[in-house]
Amino acid sequence: MQLLLNELVEKNRQWVHFGKVATYIPELKNANPNALGIVIVDIEGNVYRAGDYREKFTMQSVSKPITLMLALMDRGAEFVFERVGMEPSGDAFNSMRKLETINPSKPLNPMINAGAIAVTSLILGNSYEEKFQRILDLFRKISGNPNLQINESVYLSEKRTGDRNRSMAYFLRDVGILEGDVESILDLYFKQCSIEVDCEDIARIGVFLANQGIMPDTKEQVVPKEITQIAKTFMVTCGMYDESGEFAINVGVPAKSGVGGGIMCAVPNRMGIGVMGPALDPKGNSIGGLKMLQVLSKELSLSIF
Ligand code: GLN
Repeated sequence: MQLLLNELVEKNRQWVHFGKVATYIPELKNANPNALGIVIVDIEGNVYRAGDYREKFTMQSVSKPITLMLALMDRGAEFVFERVGMEPSGDAFNSMRKLETINPSKPLNPMINAGAIAVTSLILGNSYEEKFQRILDLFRKISGNPNLQINESVYLSEKRTGDRNRSMAYFLRDVGILEGDVESILDLYFKQCSIEVDCEDIARIGVFLANQGIMPDTKEQVVPKEITQIAKTFMVTCGMYDESGEFAINVGVPAKSGVGGGIMCAVPNRMGIGVMGPALDPKGNSIGGLKMLQVLSKELSLSIF
């Protein structure tokens, strides 16, 4: 396995030159466009690392299935899905065009920005500080990394420039999906997106999902199985934005990407995979990461279909 991963990174490094790092959040421009790394953590606890696996990146949209699980634990599925739908949008992750035209007016799913902001607004806590602490605590727990923190400059950079998300959030309050202080809700969302991780952190969250919400080492059930099933289903149908169908055919595992360059995969009952490569394709997915996962899926017969 180790040799396979080393070769995987070396053979696919060339792809990073065909992608671009995200720049719409100014601070993301500083990411290393040539970085490419991968970590696999299997259900037995073996860990394999290759390439630039030590590079740190912010979770961005990789955070969305995790806050969804917290909101589902806090509020129950009925309450959550009254405010956000279950269908792929077919549009870009930051698109707002269907928000007004669908009836009832609610975001199509929790993996697009509008849906994720709505989900984050549902997390319980007596104050916004407490709500963020609860989010961070869950990320720390399921990654097994008690040191996870936000990257302050990425957070401030998105807070300063996130007008597209801001406009969607105000729209969502107007139609009654969001309640409360819009700026505080956005602040919480920007913080969740700015949590800084490495490949191993997201591979560990991946294996936790693959293991139905049970910590593979302590056997503690942290998230109910049914809730992890919901999160993984959204990862299959919407996890790679408007490239989810192609990814399902070429790789075929529940996965979630983010514009920081991360891709987290949960291969049911087998392994978690964490990939990083900040050079993105036009849809916002790590270009080198996608190529590596395609090859890996064939080599290890990972497709769940
Ligand atoms: N924080 C980013 C945003 O809201 C997350 C988007 C992403 O990773 N696709 O635009």
